[in-house]
Amino acid sequence: MSSPSKLYEESGRIKVNVTPGRRLEKVSKEALAEPEKFWAEQARNLVWFKEWDRVLDWKPPFARWFVGGQLNASVNCLDRHVKTDTKNKTAIIWEGESGETRTLSYFQLYRQVNKFANVLKSLGVGKGDRVTIYMPMVPELPIAMLACARIGAIHSVVFSGFSSQALVDRANDAQSKIIITADGGVRKGRLIELKKVVDESLPSIQSIDHVIVLKRAGNEVGMGPRDLWWHDLMEGAKTYCPPEPVESTHPLYILYTSGTTGKPKGVMHGTGGYLTHLYATAKWVFDFNKQDIFFCTADIGWVTGHSYIVYAPLMHGATEIMYEGAPDHPRPDRYWAIVEKHGATILYMTPTALRMYMKYGDVVPNSFDLSSLRLLGTVGEPINPEVWMWYFKTIGKEICPIVDTWWQTETGGIMLSMCTGIETIPMKPGSATFPVPGVDAAVVDENGKPVPPGTKGYIVVRRPWPGMLLTLWGDDEKYKQVYWSKFAGMYYPGDYAMIDQDGYLWLLGRADDVLKVAGHRLGTMELESAFVSHKAIAEAAVTSKPNNTKGESIIAFLVPKEGFTHSDDMRTEIVAHIRNTVGPIATPDEVYFVNKLPKTRSGKIMRRLLKSIACGDKIGDITTLEDGAAIDEVKQAYEDLKKVVRS
Ligand code: ATP
Ligand code: MG
Repeated sequence: MSSPSKLYEESGRIKVNVTPGRRLEKVSKEALAEPEKFWAEQARNLVWFKEWDRVLDWKPPFARWFVGGQLNASVNCLDRHVKTDTKNKTAIIWEGESGETRTLSYFQLYRQVNKFANVLKSLGVGKGDRVTIYMPMVPELPIAMLACARIGAIHSVVFSGFSSQALVDRANDAQSKIIITADGGVRKGRLIELKKVVDESLPSIQSIDHVIVLKRAGNEVGMGPRDLWWHDLMEGAKTYCPPEPVESTHPLYILYTSGTTGKPKGVMHGTGGYLTHLYATAKWVFDFNKQDIFFCTADIGWVTGHSYIVYAPLMHGATEIMYEGAPDHPRPDRYWAIVEKHGATILYMTPTALRMYMKYGDVVPNSFDLSSLRLLGTVGEPINPEVWMWYFKTIGKEICPIVDTWWQTETGGIMLSMCTGIETIPMKPGSATFPVPGVDAAVVDENGKPVPPGTKGYIVVRRPWPGMLLTLWGDDEKYKQVYWSKFAGMYYPGDYAMIDQDGYLWLLGRADDVLKVAGHRLGTMELESAFVSHKAIAEAAVTSKPNNTKGESIIAFLVPKEGFTHSDDMRTEIVAHIRNTVGPIATPDEVYFVNKLPKTRSGKIMRRLLKSIACGDKIGDITTLEDGAAIDEVKQAYEDLKKVVRS
């Protein structure tokens, strides 16, 4: 495999507007010299009812931003626009899997949110109450979220692909009063019976007063005594609901992380700090302009959707695309088709979807007009350099910069990324480049000491930032233990990283995914990228099992590309490829070819499951596994994996 920077040089033509890094360096330096002043300037871009008394109250590890300030998230997303030219602008272009579309202007969205806020109020929902939202990707989902925000209620969105146990766990943990759902959702042409899942869950959730059901899929559903139709409630609702001014530190929502590494955690975000972080990062990273049509492909059930479909673009008055459905249904071309149809200018998607599309070659995307695109982004996992190059060349035609954005549910917003709104700098495929201004990230060793360039270590954040989670819902102790106990006074994200000679940051995978082979530490990410750099391999997941002589032995699960059939020869060839590219130390002991890998519903490989399978251990929490409609399929894949591993 060529080194990532070499690949970039080969690819060549990104325009750099000023001396690389100068402007960014200046802004970042100023931000870190006086972070409170810097973030206060950013916070002034929001609409406040009352300005804060103190920018930051930092009682480690609890940070409270803009203390004494009062605002409302729905005012920042809607009311601020309906008094300007943005009033009639399209806020949301929605597309369903079957190709149907709906558009909502800022005013229409504002109207719906106000009415639904009155509906919630009429059902006794007030400030601080929790509302579980279990809905498909339709505009009523952001409407419900913004309506909660309008009255100061705390939303807890549960991804609609989850089944009842996940819903029960989350609604109980949050002690929600209301569940908002729909008669059904659609994925891969199949009906997802959301209301049925809610009905199955209700006997195990004591706190629920009402279930609100949106008619969406034309599915016949039974309505129990607590169940109410969305449209009936909306019919009688008043058109204006005065927004509740909430304290800056008031919780806006709870969101459970995807569970790639263990049991989901109820991440709780505040209002003023969180929105400030989002406003600023959206401006820096995506640099929205009036012509932009932003397509973030995430599901709103994940943080990317919360932050960069709901709150950030709407605060900026941007036009965005919201897509309900699978990226490959009915054909593996949906994102490209949507870009062409609606003229998307910014595409923000995941490496996992890119790998899926790449499997089908260039012909599919080349048959679409993607010329509207001006910027590409990725999020969710490290992007393999090969995949980055494909994105850059085939999708971006070598003229769209790529922003590789590293962040987490816990960080609220983007933490590392190129900031095209500040300056487009030379890119390196697979590097998330630099921290955004005001974020004090570093790479440290086991003892918390910064490591020299080129050395692998743990990424940490040395100072609080506005988007930082307030705590884990109802569990301050766990919050302290998970994020603040590994290194004194530093936030610990749990990822491996490296800073290169030019100061660029490289994320090397999760710290708990690291393998120790004959005394060497090997990152799963590094190994997986090496597998994917082989022409026959679309996706790879690497895990290990204990080995008496060398500590751990490497086990690889590989998904071949379309048109390649696996064979013993191919296995031999791939092992040779790894020995040549990474080194003999990385020789895998077991190589399995599979059709799919176990992933979370957000598309991340659940390596801990592969490890459990490989080691013959009990499989832990699987509520976040890609289940829902696909549960049987995935269970089968499990069994197959087990069979393969044991044979
Ligand atoms: P859990 O915390 O429950 O195990 P999760 O970490 O997958 O789930 P998220 O908060 O959605 O849940 O994901 C954040 C993680 O995703 C990061 O810690 C990192 O491992 C990975 N990640 C996100 N963006 C990037 C990126 N651009 N490059 C590398 N890794 C990324
Ligand atoms: Mg995580």
